Amino acid sequence: MSIRLEDLPVAVIGAGPVGLAAAAHLAERGIPFTVLEAGGTPAAAVRQWGHVRLFSPWRFNVDAAARRLLAEAGWVEPDPDVLPTGGQLADDYLQPLADLPALKPHVRYDTRVLAITRLGLDRLRTAGRDAAPFLIRLADGEDVLARAVIDASGTWGTPNVLGAAGIPAHGESAAAGFVEHALPDVLGADRDRFAGKRTLVVGAGHSAANTLLSLAELTGKAPGTGVVWAIRSASPARTYGGQAADALPARGALGSRLREHVRSGTITLVTNFSVRSVTVTDGRVVVSDGSDSITVDRIVSATGFRPDHGVASELRLDLDPIMGSTRALAPLIDPNQHSCGTVPPHGVDELTHPEPGYYAIGVKSYGRAPTFLLATGYEQARSVVAALAGDWDAARDVQLDLPETGVCNSNPVPDTDTIDAGGGCCGTPAAEAVPAGRGLATGIAGGLLSAPLALLPVASSPDKADGKDGGCCG
Ligand SMILES: Cc1cc2nc3c(=O)[nH]c(=O)nc-3n(C[C@H](O)[C@H](O)[C@H](O)COP(=O)(O)OP(=O)(O)OC[C@H]3O[C@@H](n4cnc5c(N)ncnc54)[C@H](O)[C@@H]3O)c2cc1C
Repeated sequence: MSIRLEDLPVAVIGAGPVGLAAAAHLAERGIPFTVLEAGGTPAAAVRQWGHVRLFSPWRFNVDAAARRLLAEAGWVEPDPDVLPTGGQLADDYLQPLADLPALKPHVRYDTRVLAITRLGLDRLRTAGRDAAPFLIRLADGEDVLARAVIDASGTWGTPNVLGAAGIPAHGESAAAGFVEHALPDVLGADRDRFAGKRTLVVGAGHSAANTLLSLAELTGKAPGTGVVWAIRSASPARTYGGQAADALPARGALGSRLREHVRSGTITLVTNFSVRSVTVTDGRVVVSDGSDSITVDRIVSATGFRPDHGVASELRLDLDPIMGSTRALAPLIDPNQHSCGTVPPHGVDELTHPEPGYYAIGVKSYGRAPTFLLATGYEQARSVVAALAGDWDAARDVQLDLPETGVCNSNPVPDTDTIDAGGGCCGTPAAEAVPAGRGLATGIAGGLLSAPLALLPVASSPDKADGKDGGCCG
């Protein structure tokens, strides 16, 4: 007996904010669905950075369908102008959402998806493909059938490596015990690993900035704590962001505080540094770019994230060769052109792959682009679910009200301390950075560069935002 697609549920992979938003839209439209979540709770990834405060206030962080369902159940929405932490986003919004009677019976926890294909068809087979159910293989061996797949599995589980070339630096695996992934809880649960130690943070995104600020705070509390910050670019301007001009004031303030710590010497910034090798010596770790080296006790790798398309490798995906998003989406989210706040509205049309019925949404949809905001993901969820319901007018009526920002190239922010920004937004600070490759041994045991240096010559061309360093939102 053949299985009819319309008798099967839509499978949503991931109970993060965007997967649960999709579930809310499916519930509103009366479309049967199953959410498959690898973690033991909703928002399992968000909880791992639960100590970090979001830079967007509640008003941008709640999906519209989720808000309606929660309101019906008597949920009191948090103050729209307040910035939640990741923990509060999970506890005060996503957990209650997942617990609603409309969602709860349809969310399966501790359920990791290993692979997605079509029942009885590998990627090569075309005949009957559109009518074949999706087959989703779970980690425990169970196969789940679905009429469509909304893949909102995020990128948290697949961080970028330290190696600047996109593959692990020489010795990176052997030094794994010295390397933390993004956003350790420096002032809380993980404090002992950093107090009184010298830590190198690699990366130029929001995650790097957060960790650097926590480490800077720790220097005032735990004597002997040192902080070195290495970026590949010639300038940290992109990390400093819009500062006072940023439409997300919290993110602007983050950039301003970071800049002050670099200025005062609490954080030693090393620019033009591309990690090539990591060597463990005498209980410390030496990071080298081939000519300069930095010796520290720990490394925080805040180099961004990449999507795992491996789970969908038996599906027909048409991925942009640079971004790893769909090709139609790539130019809209390109960090060389856009900040988080200037991404244009987009929906099902931009998210469609040659494989009918498979959509990656949420931060995974952006591939390696670090320009993702929750509000964008919620609109994706709304549009894709409308399309699955056959409501193409609604699916194509995409709208977004994103906070504008001066972080990336499309909104240059004048920077009084920059010299010759060269036409882009990322000017090069004159006096704060230690460019690698200037014949300096950068902080080798004994902290050669523990104080801010006087004026050094700097390159004048703006650096491109390539996402590898973490980017504005990653
Ligand atoms: C520190 C930090 C701060 C941020 N701050 C903001 C902010 O202020 N404003 C903003 O708009 N955005 C912010 N973002 C960006 C973005 O909104 C978040 O990354 C958000 O969590 C993305 O939601 P998501 O649902 O797409 O993915 P995730 O939250 O990563 O959720 C994915 C879910 O899928 C599950 N999963 C993964 N693989 C599998 C699998 N194989 N099988 C089953 N389940 C799986 C995971 O366990 C997880 O629960 C921030 C990101 C970070 C890291």
